[in-house]
Amino acid sequence: MAVHPDTSDLTLQGFKSMSDTAFDVIVLGSGMAGASVAAELAQKKRRVLLLEVEEQAGMHATARSAAMYLPTYGNATVRALTRASRDFFTQPPEGFTEHSLVQPRSVLFVADNESLPRLAAMAASLGDVLQPTDVRRALEIVPILRPERVAWALLDDTGSDIDVAAMHQGYLRVARQGGAKFLRGAGDVDIERRGVQWRCRTAVGAFEAPILVNATGAWADRVAQRAGLDPVGLQPLRRSAVLVAAPQGLNIDAWPLTMDVDETVYFKPYAGNLLLSPANEDPSEPCDAMPEELDIALAVDRFEALTSVTVTRPGHRWAGLRSFVADRSPVVGYDKSTEGFFWLAGQGGYGIQMAPALARVAARLIVGESIPSDMADEGVMEQALSPGRPGLRATP
Ligand SMILES: Cc1cc2nc3c(=O)[nH]c(=O)nc-3n(C[C@H](O)[C@H](O)[C@H](O)COP(=O)(O)OP(=O)(O)OC[C@H]3O[C@@H](n4cnc5c(N)ncnc54)[C@H](O)[C@@H]3O)c2cc1C
Repeated sequence: MAVHPDTSDLTLQGFKSMSDTAFDVIVLGSGMAGASVAAELAQKKRRVLLLEVEEQAGMHATARSAAMYLPTYGNATVRALTRASRDFFTQPPEGFTEHSLVQPRSVLFVADNESLPRLAAMAASLGDVLQPTDVRRALEIVPILRPERVAWALLDDTGSDIDVAAMHQGYLRVARQGGAKFLRGAGDVDIERRGVQWRCRTAVGAFEAPILVNATGAWADRVAQRAGLDPVGLQPLRRSAVLVAAPQGLNIDAWPLTMDVDETVYFKPYAGNLLLSPANEDPSEPCDAMPEELDIALAVDRFEALTSVTVTRPGHRWAGLRSFVADRSPVVGYDKSTEGFFWLAGQGGYGIQMAPALARVAARLIVGESIPSDMADEGVMEQALSPGRPGLRATP
């Protein structure tokens, strides 16, 4: 797991000397969602407090992703938000990062005879973006594939690897430069509505703002309930990953992320190794997720069934929570029942690749502006993100 260096400016200790306790906005959670919206709000000259329970920023889902930008992944809303984020990734604002945020990484979806109809349906729904690839070509691209497991494949050249750490640190830096305060290691946060203010009580004192942004990932429903609101029906799902050595004698650097069309296993080059995932979606309570032995065994089993490689020693492994509501679109907007409570949750398995667009949309809605026209042109619609939309909660 890539643990990001923490460049935040204030720990609990640092905060003891801080007298200013009134803000325009308090953002709860410093993963990609919280960091990015704090940066956008600070640029809009709002006084922002970014408040994190953990000592380390972004140590949950954000530090545990497969780091892919894939505009053909997810439902139509997710794809629109991902497309709307592309320019940020390819041309980040001046000074945002010293490194490029993305490097090309295509994706190869493979199907055997049994799953071929699903591959055909995928090609039909996503159109020209996906290049039909026969077995000979698929094996040229990923020579470890078992020929009998590949009836046809689809190659998607629109994907990239994301430098998640650089992106996260970039957002934290922009937030700080814009005057945002960052309190990490806050421990238990008590939330209370007092008149028109939200009051967050921590071990070092209480902070107030008329607007509270709930960017707490897997914990977002719990946080809402602590604030006295109804949950939106968020379900955290555990996904696990394991690193294995690259097959000897092969240069894996340019290999695509390779996935079976039913998404039961994928693998991709990752820091000189191969990252394998069984693409599991195991319901979980919000927690510091750990992979189960079975997850790793499934990843290895399915990888070995798809390729000619035998894994002798699975290496470093981790798990994280991808949190979804029923329709699998993010939840972004003011709560309909309680003033000043803003949701930025439900990013599921796409919270890195959508973050630039989501942060811009969220910041605009928070200050009372509408969705910008470039995003509306991509198909990003306020109603499709709203916490009041139909289809948000699963029907019993
Ligand atoms: C295995 C795996 C692979 C993935 N692959 C990809 C991928 O390739 N591409 C992609 O785009 N996405 C991917 N994702 C999804 C992506 O990682 C998430 O959507 C994204 O990181 C969510 O960010 P977040 O800030 O909402 O949540 P988090 O990063 O979990 O941040 C939430 C933060 O809130 C804090 N918090 C909790 N309670 C409180 C409280 N009461 N007060 C203050 N703070 C609180 C937590 O400590 C945490 O730091 C993947 C996820 C996993 C697990």
